[in-house]
Amino acid sequence: MKRRTLLQLAAFSAVAHTAEAAEAPFTLPKLPYAYDALEPYIDAETMRIHHDKHHQAYVDNLNKAIAGDLALARLSVDELLERLDTLPANVRTAVRNQGGGHANHSLFWQVLGPAPNSGKPSGNFAAAITQTFGSQEKFEEKLRATAAGVFGSGWAWLSLDSAGKLVLDSAANQDSPLLANRRPLMGIDVWEHAYYLKYQNRRADYLAAILHVINWDFVSQRYTQLKG
Ligand code: MN
Repeated sequence: MKRRTLLQLAAFSAVAHTAEAAEAPFTLPKLPYAYDALEPYIDAETMRIHHDKHHQAYVDNLNKAIAGDLALARLSVDELLERLDTLPANVRTAVRNQGGGHANHSLFWQVLGPAPNSGKPSGNFAAAITQTFGSQEKFEEKLRATAAGVFGSGWAWLSLDSAGKLVLDSAANQDSPLLANRRPLMGIDVWEHAYYLKYQNRRADYLAAILHVINWDFVSQRYTQLKG
């Protein structure tokens, strides 16, 4: 059924899309604040390189991988990841890694926000955190431990599973929770490019710092949206 959907999309795209749009359907989202907005916790130089160079590279490589495939170019990056198994075999690795990188970072910039941080978890999200983890403090402790425990490059993720329950776990590389049929609420990037300029090998210090610049209002609203 998913394959048929792709074929139908291909037929539609052939008339609906210009060649130009199909060449580079994905674009780098603008950072929603200044590079130095997260100082002193996350430094401006790290933000500049992370957003302008690393995220841009994921976007460029994803565009390259699906160049000329009108059916794929019409899908959002989340849709590509959700249906990875149905995609042509020759693009799967690129969608998983480069598409994952694009999707993960697009969310990450929104999860962060200038200190003093944007409130605390609120409403249904705060209640779900308390119910699942005992308290916000215990959740943050477990989030830090999960992120600290990633071997090599990867992320810690708070997601909603298919039953709508909160799940906290880690994923290697740029593997999106969408690959596991989960919807990501927030992620903490623990690739060295996220912290090495300022924190070098001290990942624990980076994790303590980044919790000062979580936009809890955004995460709370996202929870409500995804639950709805
Ligand atoms: Mn990153």
